[in-house]
Amino acid sequence: MKVTLIKPGIGSIISGYNINEGSMEPLQLAILAGLIEEPDEVVLFDDRLEEVPFDEKTDLVAITVDSFSARRAYEISSNYRIRGVRVILGGMHVSLLPEEASLHADSIVVGDAEPVWKQIMYDFKNGTLQKIYSPGFGIPQDGCFPKRDIFKGKKYLPVSLMQFSRGCKFNCTFCSVSKFFKHSHQCRKIDDVLYEIEKDKLKTILFVDDNLITNRKEVKIFLKELIPLKVKWASQSSIDMTGDLELMRLMADSGCVGNLIGFESININTLKWFNKSPNIRDFNNYKEALTTFRDHGFLTWASFMVGNDFDNLDTIQRTVEFAMKSKFTLAFFHVLMPYPGTEIYQQFKAEDRLLYDGHWWNHPDYKYNHAPFQPKMMSAEQLREATIKANKDFYSVSSIAHRMFDGRTNMRNFINFSIYTRFNYVLRKTSI
Ligand code: SF4
Repeated sequence: MKVTLIKPGIGSIISGYNINEGSMEPLQLAILAGLIEEPDEVVLFDDRLEEVPFDEKTDLVAITVDSFSARRAYEISSNYRIRGVRVILGGMHVSLLPEEASLHADSIVVGDAEPVWKQIMYDFKNGTLQKIYSPGFGIPQDGCFPKRDIFKGKKYLPVSLMQFSRGCKFNCTFCSVSKFFKHSHQCRKIDDVLYEIEKDKLKTILFVDDNLITNRKEVKIFLKELIPLKVKWASQSSIDMTGDLELMRLMADSGCVGNLIGFESININTLKWFNKSPNIRDFNNYKEALTTFRDHGFLTWASFMVGNDFDNLDTIQRTVEFAMKSKFTLAFFHVLMPYPGTEIYQQFKAEDRLLYDGHWWNHPDYKYNHAPFQPKMMSAEQLREATIKANKDFYSVSSIAHRMFDGRTNMRNFINFSIYTRFNYVLRKTSI
């Protein structure tokens, strides 16, 4: 039996420009590939990087779906199904909107796919494929290891993705992770994580946990065990980590080079509206927090969500100035997205502010970076333009030069400097 795994792209028709440069390995598909045993065969097609060969022979297709790629995922599914190939959909978007996803697939997975993947293979071979599998959430990747050779020959960024945990204990009103995992957080078995690093000889790792530091006790045990492996790593984590100096020390000692931090806004009213608890707690200490990052030599990739109910064109500009002044290694300015199932989505729906019939992810006119709701202080088009300008300004030549000169972070050593130059180059290209 041959299984084809697909990572859908947003597609140039939807995005209007190539936003796929700098793609990362689709870890979740490698985990499923690792569960497919010989003599069964598995291949991966990454729609962001290559054409999907719909006529190539295959028995079963599995597609991972997030809200941005949902429309393209449904299109790919349809292309296979009209050829008589059965398709399974899984991923965050499918779990948030199972009824919608069911219309575009022979079977769907709600929740983590690993616990049911072997059952799915068995059912497919025996002609008993079920319409829906709902395994829920348990210990992530319990005894499951990615088959990374499916990435061979594809032009991904040179960093290996891994997970130590899934979910997050916080309850931010815009966050689909929080809805997906119902505010729960689970760590993998530490021995599994260490084994995976050694088995695959990983040296440069991005922990794509929703919030790596959620379980302080577990993560500290893990980091102590990570030190002898001498890897370099980065993570997605919340800013409240800076209040725990033991954790910060362990992160530095175990090879942390930087972290993606969701700042979201520099306005306390917005943070309260978002219920972004870790930031609210540390709001008056942002300056101190940034100093702590610097003291440990960590690069900071800051993420901001613009277009909230307290934002106008002036506050968006001030947010960009804050990011430049803070000399962040990278910053991402996103239009606030009302993801299905989130509180923000429900609020906009109740206030009749959703555009694209309330289904932006599956609407033929929706394009990436467009605001799918009516902002309070500007038009949707003004928000789109302001977001594009924010990214353009942040990655302007003068801003890149200004931010580079930080001897405690961006120019601290050769590794930091090469990360700084490479990623600023990639993001400048996609921002202009
Ligand atoms: S802290 Fe991050 S991952 Fe956790 S709920 Fe908030 S936005 Fe989501």
